[in-house]
Amino acid sequence: MRAAVFKGKGHISLDERDRPKPKADEVLVRVFAASICGTDLKVIRGGHFRVGENDTRVLGHELAGEIVEVGRHVTQWKIGTRVSAVPNIGCGHCDMCRRGLNNMCPDYSAFGIDIDGGFQQYMIVTPQALYGGNLFKIPETMSFEEASLVEPLSCCFNGWKDLQVTPEDRVLVMGTGPIAGMFLQLAKAYGTRQVIVVGRRAERLAEIAPLGATDTVDSSQVNVVEEVMRLTDGHGVDVALTCAPAPELQVQAIECLARLGRMNFFSGLSKGSKVEIDTNKVHYWGLKLLGSTGSSVEDYAKALKLVETGQIRVTDVVTHRFGMADAVAAFEHALSGRGMKTIIYPQEETLQ
Ligand SMILES: [Zn+2]
Ligand SMILES: [Zn+2]
Repeated sequence: MRAAVFKGKGHISLDERDRPKPKADEVLVRVFAASICGTDLKVIRGGHFRVGENDTRVLGHELAGEIVEVGRHVTQWKIGTRVSAVPNIGCGHCDMCRRGLNNMCPDYSAFGIDIDGGFQQYMIVTPQALYGGNLFKIPETMSFEEASLVEPLSCCFNGWKDLQVTPEDRVLVMGTGPIAGMFLQLAKAYGTRQVIVVGRRAERLAEIAPLGATDTVDSSQVNVVEEVMRLTDGHGVDVALTCAPAPELQVQAIECLARLGRMNFFSGLSKGSKVEIDTNKVHYWGLKLLGSTGSSVEDYAKALKLVETGQIRVTDVVTHRFGMADAVAAFEHALSGRGMKTIIYPQEETLQ
């Protein structure tokens, strides 16, 4: 079989490998769709503390496929079942895992980080993942591509649920990547009264706006805070989400918040970055500044329903698709910053 293998900073190669053989309590999945995430790109650019200097790793934690082999001790899963997976696997016995928060486990392992992930034709699902409830059966009506995108949506849903969004809210989404796109879709699905998206490139704004924005702000042309205030008749926004790793966006988002405003710092900043905030505004205006990372198995189950019921059309964020022969080109494309979401189809030779 073929696998796109990460071999240290800036280096991915398409290798021929033996098809893995599942052990007694493992399952083998034939991967049909694996989407490229900003986290994969971050690892390719700068490595990851859970991938050692001399390790090689198959990245990819947003994937879906079909079970093709089942270890002899596995009774819950059958050959032919279509599945997707929650990538972060909790240790199972820390305070966070006890609360069902596998994404907050300090001792997690994850597909595409310290376990080989989705950018290969066949992937082993470990016993810990099976016991942790990380493998999901997907509905017959759901495509593999849709199922692969439930993972990023579940991370968005995790941040979104704490913001307690209502139809009365004005929402600000900063960034033009697939995560920003999914937040626009959530804002639309929740019927919010106004949704403003901020980006610094006109073509990206034009691409993302149809997903749910009522207004766009081109930060290369106007003062973001002034423009958001103008668009909201001086009110400001009730909810803000920062979906790009830029400190100034975090500052602007707080400045744009109305009284009792809530925000989520969704995108992390590069290590060591610090942002100065006006805590008097937080105090007197009753702001809620929140953060979130990854998703729990429960968030994932809910995101799966949002996709299954058609409330969120996740594939609308997809702009490029590649077959396995072009996997390296797919990463180069994604690294170039063009388009929103790029998907690799490991069972297809070539698609574009
Ligand atoms: Zn991801
Ligand atoms: Zn744990």
